[in-house]
Amino acid sequence: MNTQEIINQGEVCLLHTYNRYPVVLDHGEGVYLYDTEGKKYLDFCAGIAVFALGYNQPEFNEAVKGQLDKIVHTSNYFYNEPSVSAAKKLCRASGMDRVFFCNSGTEAIEGAMKNALRYAYNKDGQNGHEIIAMQHSFHGRSLGALSLTGNAHYQDPFRPLLGGVHFAEFNNLDSVKSLVNERTCAIILEPVQGEGGIYPATPEFLQGLRALCDEKDILLICDEIQCGMGRTGSMFACERYGVKPDIMAVAKALGCGLPIGAFLTTEKAAALAPGDHGSTYGGNPLVCAAADKVFDLYESLHVLENVQKVGAYLYEKLDELAAANDKILAHRGVGLIQGLEFSVPVAPIIQEARDNGLILINAGTNILRFVPPLIITEEHVDEMMKILTPIVMK
Ligand SMILES: *Cc1c(COP(=O)(O)O)cnc(C)c1O
Repeated sequence: MNTQEIINQGEVCLLHTYNRYPVVLDHGEGVYLYDTEGKKYLDFCAGIAVFALGYNQPEFNEAVKGQLDKIVHTSNYFYNEPSVSAAKKLCRASGMDRVFFCNSGTEAIEGAMKNALRYAYNKDGQNGHEIIAMQHSFHGRSLGALSLTGNAHYQDPFRPLLGGVHFAEFNNLDSVKSLVNERTCAIILEPVQGEGGIYPATPEFLQGLRALCDEKDILLICDEIQCGMGRTGSMFACERYGVKPDIMAVAKALGCGLPIGAFLTTEKAAALAPGDHGSTYGGNPLVCAAADKVFDLYESLHVLENVQKVGAYLYEKLDELAAANDKILAHRGVGLIQGLEFSVPVAPIIQEARDNGLILINAGTNILRFVPPLIITEEHVDEMMKILTPIVMK
């Protein structure tokens, strides 16, 4: 099939749940992508904050290929070494105690919710527990995760959703406190809201939630699916606040392109028992071999240090652009998760950037989102700014 045939036939046989760009990607190398016409793109999207280590990373590929030739799937009736090894590294990196592997971010949220409900049920034997989530949050598309996603546009066609979910204003502790009652079992938030427009939590807010949860024995759930795995310059964003959640959800960069998610709990919060939860593929040796290697490569490639350094450089450059342009209303974010809020829709900017060999994405209609591979250099930032600046300044 040539490029146009792939697009045309895709429009016919794929369910139309995405407005895809008219580009067919073929392969990638480092921070560059190539389409089927041979056009090269600098990638500041990373498959939506997934490809932390860039494309075609040799040691990553080798680890996955090695596992492919051994065993790909075992079911959870058996142990497999890659899952145990990856779980140990995930616990060490997060300070959490126990891991449940699943296949996506959405599933990690589902498991986190079930664990929280089970914890409360174990405590008081009652049903009808409630969860507090944030406005403008994003936690996924399944009916459970969607119930926590504070976005009417995503929720409305699918009501009634899960009952007992209340939405508080992000970064407003009083708004959360006013929703707490004796049925509240969990409070969930993204330490840096991603899809909602790149809004970092304030320290007072996240630390205040931790104190509130401690006081009332409510579980604090941090959704680190987008902002975790080094994206902010710390392994997990909540670390930057000195806050340890009771439950953490991870996915996206965890497998660097292989579909794996996980939720993690502290020993105290680990409430699910045999028969309560499961997944046929969850923790399969192929994806776990990938995640296991990801942790090694974060260390050997000094990924966190790179994010701190290049993230600060990107921050400076985007600040300069924001200062020089009236259409840019705000610049937010930290490390390599940053956003520029415009007074106009950003779709035309994204399209022109793509035509000029730069892949960018939005987070909401007016916000340009920067979530590049975590291995980018200052030179790549310069290259990106050289394409973006004239488009924005027109
Ligand atoms: C992407 C995302 C999810 C959903 O993850 P999927 O792997 O797409 O199911 C949940 N929460 C946050 C914060 C995300 O960015």
